[in-house]
Amino acid sequence: MEAVITLLPGDGIGPDVTASARQVLDAVAKQYGHTLHYKEALIGGAAIDATGEPLPAVTVDACKAADAVLLGAVGGPKWSDPNDKVRPEQGLLKLRSVLGVYANMRPVRIYPELAGASPLRAEILDGVDMLVIRELTGGIYFGAKTRTATSASDLCEYTVGEVERIVRVAARLATERRGRLCSVDKANILETSRLWRDVTNRVMADEFPEIELETLLVDAAAMHLLSRPSDFDVIVTENMFGDILTDEASMLAGSLGMLPSASLGDGSAGLYEPIHGSAPDIAGMGIANPCGAIASVAMMLRHSLGLESEALAVEQAMAAAIAAGARTADIVAEGDTRLSTDDMTARIIACLA
Ligand code: NAD
Repeated sequence: MEAVITLLPGDGIGPDVTASARQVLDAVAKQYGHTLHYKEALIGGAAIDATGEPLPAVTVDACKAADAVLLGAVGGPKWSDPNDKVRPEQGLLKLRSVLGVYANMRPVRIYPELAGASPLRAEILDGVDMLVIRELTGGIYFGAKTRTATSASDLCEYTVGEVERIVRVAARLATERRGRLCSVDKANILETSRLWRDVTNRVMADEFPEIELETLLVDAAAMHLLSRPSDFDVIVTENMFGDILTDEASMLAGSLGMLPSASLGDGSAGLYEPIHGSAPDIAGMGIANPCGAIASVAMMLRHSLGLESEALAVEQAMAAAIAAGARTADIVAEGDTRLSTDDMTARIIACLA
């Protein structure tokens, strides 16, 4: 099999974790006899520095031409002046939009050996296995923004079509899992959430009557995620709620550095990225946890390249390395050795063989 992958290292720890993920992809490709062609392009602060734009046209072309895109992270203090007209995050939002990747899949998987890295008690984490489906190309992140000297506004807008398609994606995935879907909204306050709830109830009743549907307000969902996380199977929610709830859910897994994501549209091409940001506090130190990025390439192998065995091999290698005690600084317990990004990557690759 041959495939073209566009790499967008981005800023901060982005280049470190994408380099790790590429090494793992190369090792899997070699083991299974596939040929992967890489193209590297600029995004975020690195692109602003080089070209003045957070998403140059040549980057868009490289991403559109690829079978899959692997992104590190964008942003950092250098480009964080709120008065700046051009910001790294604009590049990421525009990329998601131009690629039409409206369905962001964020699995939250718990490694039993990392229970100690979570602030929650081990018995609460027992059996946690959830998949959060975040709507990625609509809502308040994409609505019109205004700013005057004395006020500001962000428009939150959803169409029936946008809600229908994301609910269908989530419901199909629930069918393949434990058959439970939880839709999270704020329908007691927001009109967009009342639309979200009406459309969700209709699509689920008409098309997925076999799926057990639960509806939660986002404030309650934030609490239930910590009090009864193992009850959740698939969660579907709008762009901003999904962004916030998955950072919260990352604490179940022990670190933001553990969680991967896949963003898909109607075709098989997708955008893959760890859910964390550019982590300026540890950038350049060589200690970032590469697991989120490596688990993201497992999702890439599965969802864009159709290579299920290879995806499983990567996930099993990560699990084996962690079970054997491999830990970066963010997931160490007392007495553990703190591995660098490179050493953690090497330990995972060694478990592939
Ligand atoms: P962050 O995710 O970068 O970091 C939050 C905390 O988690 C930090 O203490 C960091 O050291 C730690 N952390 C994150 N990833 C880690 C990893 N792989 N290994 C070990 N520790 C890790 O969030 P932030 O500090 O709020 O944001 C920093 C910058 O990243 C901002 O400019 C923000 O806009 C940007 N950001 C980008 C994305 C993205 O590119 N998708 C997402 C979120 C934030």
